[in-house]
Amino acid sequence: GNIADLLAGAAARWPDAGALTDTTAGTAVTWAQLNSAVDGQVRKLAEHGVRPGDRIVLRLPTSADFAIALFATARAGAVAVPISPLAPEPELATVVEHSGARFVFSRSPGDARPEVPVLTPSAEPGEPVDAIGGDEDIAVVSYTSGTTGPSRGVMLSHRALLANLEQVGAVPGTLGHLDRVFIAIPLFHVYGLGPGLLHATSVGATVVLAERFDVVKALEVCAAQRVTVIGGVPAMYAEFARMPAHELGEGLATVRLLSSGAAPLHPKVLATIREKTGLAIFEGYGLTETAPVVTSTLVTGYAKPGSVGRPVPGVELRLVESDGLAEPVPLDPDDLDDAFVEDDAGAGLVSVRGANLFSGYWPEGAHGPDEEGWFRTGDVGYLDVDGDLHLVDRANDLIIVNGFNVFPHEVEEVIVALPEVAEVAVVGVIDERSGESVKAVVVPAPGASLSEQQVVDHCAEKLAGYKVPRTVEFAEALPHSATGKLRRTRLRS
Ligand code: ATP
Repeated sequence: GNIADLLAGAAARWPDAGALTDTTAGTAVTWAQLNSAVDGQVRKLAEHGVRPGDRIVLRLPTSADFAIALFATARAGAVAVPISPLAPEPELATVVEHSGARFVFSRSPGDARPEVPVLTPSAEPGEPVDAIGGDEDIAVVSYTSGTTGPSRGVMLSHRALLANLEQVGAVPGTLGHLDRVFIAIPLFHVYGLGPGLLHATSVGATVVLAERFDVVKALEVCAAQRVTVIGGVPAMYAEFARMPAHELGEGLATVRLLSSGAAPLHPKVLATIREKTGLAIFEGYGLTETAPVVTSTLVTGYAKPGSVGRPVPGVELRLVESDGLAEPVPLDPDDLDDAFVEDDAGAGLVSVRGANLFSGYWPEGAHGPDEEGWFRTGDVGYLDVDGDLHLVDRANDLIIVNGFNVFPHEVEEVIVALPEVAEVAVVGVIDERSGESVKAVVVPAPGASLSEQQVVDHCAEKLAGYKVPRTVEFAEALPHSATGKLRRTRLRS
């Protein structure tokens, strides 16, 4: 199959049902209209000489334009390379060059370069065209956000993306035809693209798009559009959680399902939203390399705080040892919420197998799944007694002090418990004597005053000596990616 056939299928089954409502542009199209606009766009691509396998950069916000550009690229047999519309010029240049793109879909003519013209998505209808290619052909090359290292181009085949839709689609309570899904997260990231746009297209659910997330506007839109499902990230839910209960309740009155992914959801946010609205936030875990969903709490139907749930049907998961972690790390039962203490096994590197896996990194397909089909993520996790996955940290974030493992998350939890602290990040910095030492970057709560010594003393009370930060720095904010992931590498210097 080809991901563009999902759109043709929706247009055939539900021609007159609402497909996309772009609340920023103020437009709405049906599946038949969207499908025909994509046909029109495919024709234009052909006029420009686009050939199967050509890369086309998509530098577009979360909008109907993005959907048209994506489906047209796929239908033409070309490869979509989505990047943030806010990415600075040098990043665009790097991606264009690295992917060898021939065109850039963009709204700003200034994105053109001598050999790489800009295309502007248009909604002019066209005669039906058949999709070219599919299955093992690459549909998308997605450059990961680079939170742990240099950005790499993940090659996602039509097969991988379609497989994940099927896997997620098999989970009870997931998207259905009658749903109206609010998406204000980036479509250039695989979370908005796959479980958001493509999944909605596969079931003919209506997608309500917003270019930017503004909490007050989002609540208005959700109420006015009778939204039933929100696909969001933790930073969004943290803002929802700060709203007064009645406003939140009114805005989310028609919502049945809140889902979160891409970064850890704080149990406090889960609890607050539940208190104020009665709604649970279901959390998913995934990676670009897994196209993207690996686990979800929707699999058990129970939003367990701190857990990312179980693998979706068709995805296998196991925990393995890795270099940085000579043995699976023994669990410290004191670290865990009483209810979820696990008995024996330790933490390990999360490994994944399934038809949803990527085809290696652009261009040669290096470092893809191994001969047995397993892919080692960079995430360290453990399974609790129920078999639900908890993520501890990323292996790359692990700090090794005199040979002892320090998980940043554990130290962060201790520091954030101080009322004077709004946010904190803990990283390892090179230390001549101990190899690495612990550094904390603290964002004080508004109006609070706090000294380095206070933070150190508090940690010394709660943590083993080697886990106590050697340095504490204060900052006004922490660096985050577009999906709300902490960019720890930026804090290491
Ligand atoms: P890079 O690999 O270049 O640093 P990236 O990792 O941000 O980029 P993504 O594919 O966007 O690229 O992110 C996948 C990672 O996001 C996972 O490996 C995991 O660490 C994190 N993640 C995703 N979902 C969750 C979740 N529910 N809870 C905690 N972490 C999550």
